[in-house]
Amino acid sequence: MAAKIIKGTEVAKEIRQELKREVEELKSKHGVTPGLVTILVGEDPASVSYVTAKQRTAHDLGFYSVQDNQPADISEEALLDLIDKYNKDPKIHGILVQLPLPKHIDETRVLYAIDPKKDVDAFHPVNVGKLLIGEPDFLPCTPHGIWQLLIRSGAKIEGAEVVIVGRSNIVGKPMAAILMQKHPNANATVTVCHTKTKDLAFHTRRADILIVAAGRPKAITADMVKEGAVVIDVGVNRIGTTPEGKAILCGDVDFDAVKEKASMITPVPGGVGPMTITMLMYNTVKAAKLAAGIKD
Ligand code: NAP
Repeated sequence: MAAKIIKGTEVAKEIRQELKREVEELKSKHGVTPGLVTILVGEDPASVSYVTAKQRTAHDLGFYSVQDNQPADISEEALLDLIDKYNKDPKIHGILVQLPLPKHIDETRVLYAIDPKKDVDAFHPVNVGKLLIGEPDFLPCTPHGIWQLLIRSGAKIEGAEVVIVGRSNIVGKPMAAILMQKHPNANATVTVCHTKTKDLAFHTRRADILIVAAGRPKAITADMVKEGAVVIDVGVNRIGTTPEGKAILCGDVDFDAVKEKASMITPVPGGVGPMTITMLMYNTVKAAKLAAGIKD
C-alpha cells in the first residue's frame, strides 16, 4: 500500500496560524511584539532569497522585523559590533545571521557572539548544551520541524528504532539529541550513521523511523527501507534546471520506490523544507516570551 504523504507545507501553515494567534495575544495582553533581525552579508542570490522568505514570514505573522544588509567586505569586528548592538536592543528578541559568511569572517566567532537568549537558530554552544541535558530554551529549526512533522502525523516515536543518516551540527546531531530525551514524544532508541558506518543498509532496514540528511540524491533505495517505516527526507539536491531556469530538486530518498514500502514519507520539495522557517518564527516568539517572563 502506498505511504501517506506527510505534507510539510500544510503542517507549516497550521503552525503559522497558531503562531499568528499567539502573536496577537502577546500584543494585546502583554504589549509584547516579537522582534527578529536577519543580518545578510553580501548578495549571494540563495542567501538573499532565504532572508527574503524569513522576513516575509516574520512580517506576515505580525513581528517587528528588521532586515540588515551589510556589504560583503564588512570587517569581522564591525559585524561583531552590529551583533552587540542587537544583543542590547530590547525590541529585538531573535538574531539570525544568514550563513555562509564571506571567507575573511570567522563564522564560529560571529555565531558565538549572539546572546544565547536571542539565538533563534539554536547554534550557540549554550543552547546546544541545554538541548543535550534535556533543558532547551530553543531547538534548532530543521530538527524541530522534523519532530513536529512526526508528532503531528501521529508517528509512534516512543520506543521506536530511529535511524538518522547524517551527523551534522544543524540536522543529524540535534535530531538525535531531541529524540533520545526522556520525554513522552521522544524516548526513542537512536542510531546515527555517517560515511564511516560499515553497513548503512543494515541500520536503515531496522528503522521504524528513518531520517535522512546526507545531501546525496536518492542514496536511500527501497531495499534499504523496512516495510511500514516512517521516512523523513531532509535532503535538498539540485539535479538540474528546467528550460525556464528553475532548479529541479530531489531528496536523499528514492521517493517513488520508497513510498510503496513506507507507511509515511515526506516529499522533496514540500516536506521538511517549509518547516524550517516556521520553527525559526516559533523560536522568535518563544524568545520574546522568555524575555518578558511569560510562561507557556
Ligand atoms: P552535511 O553537513 O554535508 O552533512 C551530511 C552528513 O551526511 C555527514 O554527517 C556525512 O557523513 C553524512 N553522509 C553523507 N553521505 C553519506 C553516505 N553515503 N552514507 C552515510 N552518511 C553519509 O549536510 P547537512 O547540512 O546536514 O544537510 C544534509 C542535507 O539536508 C543537504 O541536502 C541539505 O541541503 C539538506 N538540508 C535541508 C534543510 C531543510 O530545511 N530542508 C535544512 C538543512 C539541511 P560524515 O560526517 O562522515 O561526512
